[in-house]
Amino acid sequence: MKVIVMGAGVVGVSTAWFLSRLGHEVVVVERAAGAARETSFANGGQISVGQSEPWATPGMPWQILKWLCRADAPLLFRPHLDPAQWRWGLRFLLECRPGRWRDNMRNMVALGQFSQQAYQDIHSAISFDYAHRSAGILTLLDTPREMREAGRRCRELAALGVRRELLDRSAMLAIEPALAHIAPTLAGAAWCRSDESGDVHRFTVGLAAEAAKQGVEFCYSTRINALLREGERLTGISVTGPSGHYATLGADAYVLAAGSYSPLLAASAGLRLPVYPAKGYSATVPICDDSKAPSVSITDESRKIVFSRLGNRLRVAGTAELSGYSSSLNAVRCAALLARARECFPGAAEWDKAEFWSGLRPATPGNVPLIGQSAITNLYLNTGHGTLGFTEGPGSGKALALLMHGEAPDIGFDFHKVKSA
Ligand SMILES: Cc1cc2nc3c(=O)[nH]c(=O)nc-3n(C[C@H](O)[C@H](O)[C@H](O)COP(=O)(O)OP(=O)(O)OC[C@H]3O[C@@H](n4cnc5c(N)ncnc54)[C@H](O)[C@@H]3O)c2cc1C
Repeated sequence: MKVIVMGAGVVGVSTAWFLSRLGHEVVVVERAAGAARETSFANGGQISVGQSEPWATPGMPWQILKWLCRADAPLLFRPHLDPAQWRWGLRFLLECRPGRWRDNMRNMVALGQFSQQAYQDIHSAISFDYAHRSAGILTLLDTPREMREAGRRCRELAALGVRRELLDRSAMLAIEPALAHIAPTLAGAAWCRSDESGDVHRFTVGLAAEAAKQGVEFCYSTRINALLREGERLTGISVTGPSGHYATLGADAYVLAAGSYSPLLAASAGLRLPVYPAKGYSATVPICDDSKAPSVSITDESRKIVFSRLGNRLRVAGTAELSGYSSSLNAVRCAALLARARECFPGAAEWDKAEFWSGLRPATPGNVPLIGQSAITNLYLNTGHGTLGFTEGPGSGKALALLMHGEAPDIGFDFHKVKSA
């Protein structure tokens, strides 16, 4: 079967790699000049099944209200006259109901665990350097209340097969001595030994290079303008190539993996997808004193900031802003990231050399990505990975490739089927 994969982020490239391993002819169409130039460029670097918790929790609506007026709020909703934003917001509120939240978490954990196996498949087939660390992830907890809440979450994750444990300060410091400076301000930490970290850009570019060796064709600098539909099938995609010429590309099947832009392309074929961009920021800073920099990846729970060691650089990432498609950098939010990093790890990095970046997480209201066949029979979806695209990307790619190949992936995940076209 010939398949066109739309988008060369971590999700599209993973899908292409697994499809090609199953013997399919694959063409990846990407508007940027290379792989992983959008959201899969400079994210938090965590491969974190232990963080499989949706934003939409029962307490979140109240929390968002409290954050509404804070420019440095971890999750910020900036209302626009945009029906897609309001529709998404309403669905988000519905996903906060306890039953939905639990179901979403179950799906996220199942996909994350399947993705861990998919990473193993990749590691055993090929080898390339992406600053990968299998050193676990620590979640910092400020207060006894956060410890109690994290304890509940550990039990919920344990029921789903993920081992995450609570640590007191000394056990936390034994794992990460670089936290010594802020340890007195913390109540403790949660520790997920099986979590990992790495550089998403290097991973995706490395996997794309391996996929190309396997025969996958990459059409870079090629913008998809519209999906061409006749009845219940796509007949092709209309593109503008590197030289500015229009063309139509055709295949037997199509995979939509265009991240936050997936709903815009889907709309051209009459499909409405509940995906909305949630902007986040990162700072990448050169490490100047190894002993003061963290060696394990860290999540600062209350500030929703993550720290990952990527070779000789420290990646600090976080915050979410529902404010449309602008990728402009907000100085207050960038400063908040860096201020917390300096506070946690003084002297570890050359803070004045920080490189800032923003990316648009393709977020669904319940944090569960849309994977599976759409109402257009030869169009498949692999999009909406929100906060966990690096964690779930290879698993999503493998699961969708198997489905398209006619095999049922061994995973307790609710695959998506869009009903209205
Ligand atoms: C600040 C921040 C921190 C994060 N931290 C983590 C983390 O620690 N761990 C984790 O698991 N996840 C994290 N994420 C989420 C993760 O980065 C995303 O879920 C993931 O990168 C999404 O991958 P994707 O392939 O779906 O989208 P993208 O990487 O955006 O890829 C989509 C591709 O489609 C292309 N495209 C779009 N429209 C068109 C068109 N019309 N024509 C041609 N090409 C098109 C784009 O150019 C792009 O290359 C973070 C995200 C952010 C913003």
